[in-house]
Amino acid sequence: MKVYLDYAATSPVLYEVRAAILPFLENNFGNPSSIHQWGRNARAAVDKARKNIAKFLNCQEQEVVFTSGGTEADNLAIRGLILGLGTSIEKPHIITSQIEHHAVLNTCKALEKEGLAEITYIKPDREGIIRIQDIKKAIKKNTVLVSIMYVNNEIGTIQPICEIGKMIERENQNRKNKIYFHSDTVQAVKYLPMDVNFLHVDLLTISGHKIGAPKGIGALYIKKGTSIKEIITGGEQEMGFRAGTENVAGIVALGKAIELIKNLKFKIENLKKLRNYFIGKILKEIPDVELNGSKELRSPNNANFYFKYIEGESILLNLDLAGIAASSGSACTSQSLEPSHVLLAVYENPERAHGSIRFSLGPNTTKSEIDYVIKSLKQIVEKLRKISPLTPKEKNA
Ligand code: PLP
Repeated sequence: MKVYLDYAATSPVLYEVRAAILPFLENNFGNPSSIHQWGRNARAAVDKARKNIAKFLNCQEQEVVFTSGGTEADNLAIRGLILGLGTSIEKPHIITSQIEHHAVLNTCKALEKEGLAEITYIKPDREGIIRIQDIKKAIKKNTVLVSIMYVNNEIGTIQPICEIGKMIERENQNRKNKIYFHSDTVQAVKYLPMDVNFLHVDLLTISGHKIGAPKGIGALYIKKGTSIKEIITGGEQEMGFRAGTENVAGIVALGKAIELIKNLKFKIENLKKLRNYFIGKILKEIPDVELNGSKELRSPNNANFYFKYIEGESILLNLDLAGIAASSGSACTSQSLEPSHVLLAVYENPERAHGSIRFSLGPNTTKSEIDYVIKSLKQIVEKLRKISPLTPKEKNA
């Protein structure tokens, strides 16, 4: 049996998405900037995708900027804002969290190193939630941006984006310089409310390959009036926010994938039930296991466990041999063998960070697949603990 439980890393291109993009790889290959009919066809397709996304986010079409993915959208939001503000603030201050995706964290670190901004990295609580009070306390005169993710890609925790947005709006009433609010919502798009007015955000990142479009396409919502400067210079594409000939097929795919999300709604409750069944069984049937993250404030597709006394990498390799895909840490750090910065920030325990595995389910994951994973995991954990020097002697007896 083969079971893919790594949907937070990436997801397959949906059949309808594939069908929608094929014409743009074949006959409709025009450049949207060309004035002839090939160009006009491509332009119409880009416009339609932008319209779909604007409808989904409840914003204006001109507020949606296509990028090469979530990473570039995060870069454009953060670096673009700092560049856009220019010299209006002497040393701008950004508030973010210790558990952001590296696309946000490393952009902040780079700006810090370049002397372009000072950054506060908020520590999460023991469930991986960022407290609104902590953000509020960190606000300074020179604060220009708060960037907090909606759903954490490793432990699936849901952050109170709407409440953070409202708090920032209240703060903005008594300030000279506005604090902008960015949220990386890459892992939330399929499952949570995405209306930008409800969320009270100025900037919002999405990525195609987590929702059934191909890799290499994403978008940034930029609220009208937000002073963003482009970070890729060149032509005037994307209203001047992002130069480069548009990835027409990718854009069409993203528009279609977003359109299809409405069909998922009825599957989410089942997904949550199946995920809860999985968590319940693992915690009950395997000794010395803990759930990482919050039990309640959790994305419906995520389960992340700490298996005491063994290395996550060994579990992963054995799962792979059994035909099961999961991950330790995020896909981006898996090549470095560095322990997850998210688990380190939440639990301050390197052993826990090294002994944890993320399972991320998809909308079509079945109970028989989950039962197979439970059965395999039980065997793998028992086998590895027998040979692990970390297992206490009495447990091994
Ligand atoms: N932000 C989050 C929360 C993610 O999970 C990812 C992908 O892993 C990204 C950003 C990066 O998106 P992309 O792979 O499209 O660059």
